[in-house]
Amino acid sequence: MTDSTSISFTTSNRGKRLLIYSGYIFRLKKSTMKVKYWACHSDGCVANVHTDKNDHFIKSNGQHHHMPEPKQIELRNLKRKVKERVKTETSSIPQIYKEELARSNLSSTALTLASTATAGKSGLNRVRRKTTPTIPTSTEFDIPEFYSQTLDGTQFVCTDKIIKKTRMILFATDTQLETLFSSEWIFLDGTFHSCPEQFQQIYTIHCLKFNQTWHNRFNNRVEKYHPNVWHFFECQKPEELLFCQQLGKLNAGIQKKTCNICISRKQIDTLTEQYEQEQITLTDFLYGLSTLVAKRSTKSL
Ligand SMILES: [Zn+2]
Repeated sequence: MTDSTSISFTTSNRGKRLLIYSGYIFRLKKSTMKVKYWACHSDGCVANVHTDKNDHFIKSNGQHHHMPEPKQIELRNLKRKVKERVKTETSSIPQIYKEELARSNLSSTALTLASTATAGKSGLNRVRRKTTPTIPTSTEFDIPEFYSQTLDGTQFVCTDKIIKKTRMILFATDTQLETLFSSEWIFLDGTFHSCPEQFQQIYTIHCLKFNQTWHNRFNNRVEKYHPNVWHFFECQKPEELLFCQQLGKLNAGIQKKTCNICISRKQIDTLTEQYEQEQITLTDFLYGLSTLVAKRSTKSL
C-alpha cells in the first residue's frame, strides 16, 4: 500500500508546479515562511493540503465534491515528459510523443485521452520554436530534422543539392509528388522579393486535380515576408497538412490514379545531373521539370 500521506508533483500546462495527493491535483494558493497552502484545482472545491516549506505533507482538510482523477494525472505526467524531451532533443515531436506513449503504460482510458491530446501539439511546437537553431546568414547550413519534416514527421525535404555553387532545396512529400505527377494541369511560379535573403528565388510548382488547386492560398503564404529561412521552412508545414486533409477528402470520393513515383524521381535526378554538369541551363532545367510533369500527367489521363 502507498503511504496515505505520500505526495508527488507534476507541472501544469503553463509550467506551474502542481501537487498530487491521493488521486487529486492541487495548485499552490499561498505560501508563508513555514507552510504552503495547496488548493484543489477543481473550481469551487474546498479540499486543500498543507505542506511545510520543504514540501513535506502536514495535513489535508475538507472533502472533495468530485471524483479523483487518476487518468488526468497519468496524462499530465506523460505531457510533462514529452515537453521536457521536446525542449532538449531534436527528434520530431510525433516521434517523441509515440515513444513516451509506448513507455508510459497508460491505462486504456488515459490512452484515449492521450490520443485527443495530440491536439495540444501546437503548444509543443511553441516550446520547440523557443529553441530555434541559430539563424543562418549564408546558404551553408544543416537543416535540423524539425525543419526537414512535415508536422506529422514525414520527410519533407525531397532534394537538397549544391548545383553550380548554388544550393537548391526542394520541398515535397511523396504524396505531393504523386498528386503532381497525376494531375491534369500544372502551374509554375517564381518569386524573388519574398525569398529569404541568402537565396535567389522561391520557385513553386502547383497542380490542378479534380478541379482543386492550392495555387492562390499557397502563394499568399509564400509571398509574405520571411525574416529568415526557418520562418520560411516552417510556413510550408501547415500548407502541407491542409493539402493532406483536402486530398483525403477528394480521394474518399474519387478513385486515385496511381503512377510510378520511382520513375518520376529518376527522371528528376537525370535532369538535376544534366544541370549540375552544365549540360543544360537553369531555364532548361525548370522547363524540363515542368514538361516532365506535364508528360506524365498526359499519360495518366
Ligand atoms: Zn477537489
